[in-house]
Amino acid sequence: MMCSGSQNRFSMGSVAWCCLLLVSCSSREAAQSDNPVAKQKGTTSTKRMQQPAQPPAPVVVSPNTQTQPAMQPLPIQIDGPAAAARKNPLDPEKIRAQGIRTIQGQHLTLYTDMPTNADIQSLPKILELAIPQWCEYFHVAPEKMAAWKVSVCLIQERQKFDAAGLIPATLPSFEHGYAFGNRLFINEQPSAYYRRHLLLHEATHAFMFENFSSAGPPWCMEGMAEFLATHTWDGTQLQLRQMPKTKEDVPYWGRIKIIKDQVAEKKGLMIQEIMNFGSDAQLRLDAYAWSWAACSFLDTHPAFQKTFREHLKNIGDSSPEFSLDLVKAYGEQWFQVRQQWQVFVMNIEYGFDIARESIDVVEVRPLELAAEVIPVRADRGWQSTGLRVTAGMKLAITATGRFVIHREESENQPQGIPWESEAGGITLRYHRGQPLGKLLIALDEPQQLGETGLSNYGPVGAGGDIMIPSDGVLYFRVNDSPSELAANEGTLQVTVQQITD
Ligand SMILES: [Zn+2]
Repeated sequence: MMCSGSQNRFSMGSVAWCCLLLVSCSSREAAQSDNPVAKQKGTTSTKRMQQPAQPPAPVVVSPNTQTQPAMQPLPIQIDGPAAAARKNPLDPEKIRAQGIRTIQGQHLTLYTDMPTNADIQSLPKILELAIPQWCEYFHVAPEKMAAWKVSVCLIQERQKFDAAGLIPATLPSFEHGYAFGNRLFINEQPSAYYRRHLLLHEATHAFMFENFSSAGPPWCMEGMAEFLATHTWDGTQLQLRQMPKTKEDVPYWGRIKIIKDQVAEKKGLMIQEIMNFGSDAQLRLDAYAWSWAACSFLDTHPAFQKTFREHLKNIGDSSPEFSLDLVKAYGEQWFQVRQQWQVFVMNIEYGFDIARESIDVVEVRPLELAAEVIPVRADRGWQSTGLRVTAGMKLAITATGRFVIHREESENQPQGIPWESEAGGITLRYHRGQPLGKLLIALDEPQQLGETGLSNYGPVGAGGDIMIPSDGVLYFRVNDSPSELAANEGTLQVTVQQITD
């Protein structure tokens, strides 16, 4: 469901934001506190009108509990104390009689009716390799987890597990996986990746509850489980917390596709809307995808990671206060979180390079009459010039220099064959309708709420005269996929000069 046109919305290409009334009225209230700015179309490459900077919102996640229920957990997760699940001891005879195999590992007892194969045999090892990574991430002493053990039912035919007494009577129905204390239940999945992913997801819940008695509000509980479960595995090395490089690396995971599809449908979510997630079964898969994106973004972003990780010491708090306090902890930086979150989700793709797409903060000053020469790096995303311009200004822009915009795979050159470009870009390849390497310009108000102007950009290429449609700060970047910035090298020199009549 989408809100009406009175909400914040802009358009540029196929991208537009609109608050999505995702879960509850508290979400709506929060979205309104974001409420933006009137926008008008300009006539040049930067078309967006902005209103002056607004003061920071005291809180962005609505704490209004008078009319709204407290956030409720998402439908799939831990809901029962481990003790309740342990009441009925398991009967090995009954389990064997159903043809269910038992595989013992150091930290895991696996029950499955699946035929044995190498992927399934590796599951105990996967958990063994994950535990030290969770311990390090959450600052839990490894000794504390030395004797920790979970049981996992990997289920193809549910009735066999019912008959074997492996399913607690109080276990709610679930679609993919469920953590019931230290007993984990996973429905068999069509890919080995997704099977491991679900094991890691549910075991993350169990680990967090074991150590912190809670895992934060829904977006954090599910987002952290997703983030810590998204992994690479080569048969020997397990690496958690990975941004998937390609779709083929994570078959059936699908979170990035969900976000891309929703953004394309103008249903992109602001980060504070995700923090307001409550219980909503119909939108469950969306909620997992967005929660993953939020945790992944905050944890991986070089400027936002420290505050996020420090705040995780409060993970035992599953109330809305957790999110409110996180926003407060960011303080003025919350403006940047909001701005860069939007850049992230609007351009999300496999391999999105959050670090290179991060936008460095530059002190803002007015553009005077003297020409300014701004270096623009090819291996980074949007870069602030720090130059404030005002509506009606005419600017002459020229860009000089050569840079590497891509490296073509080559058997003879390990580094790849560099594709060199100037500011006009190269037409060998296009990204989002513009030549790779072409200089792009945008206008944003970094200290304001609402949608970022960085979604509304235009090509400037080697240069030209432009009319500034509204007040704001100038940003530049070269056109490239956010997953391929690491291949780039070099800097453009962009000269910006006011034209006075
Ligand atoms: Zn979960």
